[in-house]
Amino acid sequence: MSHVAPVSVTRRTVEFHAGTKNLFFHILTQCNLRCLHCYIDPDQHGRSVLGLSVMKEQLRLFANRFREPADANVVFLGGEPTLNPDLPEAIREARRIGYRSITVDTNGFLFHDFLDRISPEDLDFLSFSLDGSCPDVNDRIRGEGVFRTCVKGIERAVARGFSVSVIFTVSRLNLGDLSNMPGLLTDLGVTRFFIQVVGIRGRSAMESRKAGMDLQVPRSEWDAVVPVVARHAARRGLLVTYPTVFLAPGVPFSCAGLVAENYFVFPNGRVYRCPLCEDHPVHSLEIADGSLSERPPITERELFPLRIPEGCVMNRILHPGNIPYGPDGEPTARIACCMLKEEVRREDA
Ligand code: SF4
Ligand code: SF4
Repeated sequence: MSHVAPVSVTRRTVEFHAGTKNLFFHILTQCNLRCLHCYIDPDQHGRSVLGLSVMKEQLRLFANRFREPADANVVFLGGEPTLNPDLPEAIREARRIGYRSITVDTNGFLFHDFLDRISPEDLDFLSFSLDGSCPDVNDRIRGEGVFRTCVKGIERAVARGFSVSVIFTVSRLNLGDLSNMPGLLTDLGVTRFFIQVVGIRGRSAMESRKAGMDLQVPRSEWDAVVPVVARHAARRGLLVTYPTVFLAPGVPFSCAGLVAENYFVFPNGRVYRCPLCEDHPVHSLEIADGSLSERPPITERELFPLRIPEGCVMNRILHPGNIPYGPDGEPTARIACCMLKEEVRREDA
């Protein structure tokens, strides 16, 4: 880690609340890459590429659902969203509707001349996925040659005036490299750094489990590295967020499925309120024939109000091995909602 002059940073938990409105809009599941930790599962999420008229219809559907789109953020995702040739026009439609912010998450390949077909006025944030500070680390996870292409994409986007962020998914394969990221990102002109924890979801999660690969990082290693690197990155001027994961004693537990308006929309019309549920047909809502409707029980919705000592119900069901228990059988820490984040920024930023 290179030396940086001491600068104060602040860390705060970014609460989601009734006013948090996000549309996570998966506009296709196709991708040119096969990252080890990919959470997309076409069997569960569909295989169609949403055409422009469908994307426009769904953007309006959710704008009505939110009642006030000016309070809502939209994130275009895939698969690789730039493989959809209609993405630039869909972004402009989101702008016309009046969504508060528009983000595209990309693997950096920027297909269909994406950067030439939109302007920084159309798009608030362009987020690149990069899982290492060098080809050795990144390409082991994301594929041969991906680091070089992604970095080139970041450089072009920064040069054109886009607000660029980077998403780094922490696993056993790259935790040791995390501390090298802040220097790389500030050199590239990136302004925001999202650190994520690897999920045990999707087709690739099943494949890596079958291959006997455990990508998950033990809590002690996460705690020893991630908050330290986040502070270091913030001192360099990056706005950093990372998942809270475990709640400190006394901090109240809250489920985003109950208190926030997050919609995770997939090409087959499934709409989830909780991202942990996405491997299972328990979605709360569905889009069919151009309309959005609540599904009858039992869905994820019935699980959200359950109160258990472990905190998040879905974590208890899906990943019980991640919960620490004391000799008395009681959990020694509660798992936070996966939508709860810590935000670290320089005080003068
Ligand atoms: S993680 Fe993203 S970039 Fe990687 S294979 Fe999945 S959709 Fe593609
Ligand atoms: S991750 Fe847990 S707490 Fe968060 S929305 Fe899903 S069920 Fe609720």
